[in-house]
Amino acid sequence: MVTQRTFSILKPDATRRNLTGKINAKFEENGLRIVAQKRIRMTKEQAEQFYAVHKQRPFYQDLVKFMISGPVVVQVLEGDDAVAANRKIMGATNPANAEPGTIRKEFAESMEANSVHGSDSLENAKTEIAFFFKDDEIVG
Ligand code: ATP
Ligand code: MG
Repeated sequence: MVTQRTFSILKPDATRRNLTGKINAKFEENGLRIVAQKRIRMTKEQAEQFYAVHKQRPFYQDLVKFMISGPVVVQVLEGDDAVAANRKIMGATNPANAEPGTIRKEFAESMEANSVHGSDSLENAKTEIAFFFKDDEIVG
């Protein structure tokens, strides 16, 4: 086991329903530590750049619109194998396929409004963390 940091977002559907505490409890109960966190409203430019890998996908414009439709909470999570651990805690992208007990199974509204984002690799985690946080905003 190796200690890693991963990047997480509590999406607008989660902040709208006042679920930030319940979702954070899932991270903490499953061994991840929130070492940085801020509530922001993403700009259109930030959302477009953040999801640029999906630019060619049919859901891209809707996704950008959704991500700026309300506040989000951006976070850095730390723990053993944090990237994979967080993906497991989140559950499958489509809540209909998510395992019982996962965040998306319990809280997601739809494939798009699926409550959380989590980095899918250590490399992307580093890029995504640097996109939203300065080094001195992360306190391990
Ligand atoms: P995330 O990147 O948000 O952690 P993910 O890695 O499970 O989720 P991706 O394939 O990277 O899923 O898609 C990014 C996001 O785009 C999803 O979380 C979801 O909000 C949205 N999305 C993905 N596929 C679809 C789809 N077919 N229809 C609508 N929205 C989608
Ligand atoms: Mg992804």
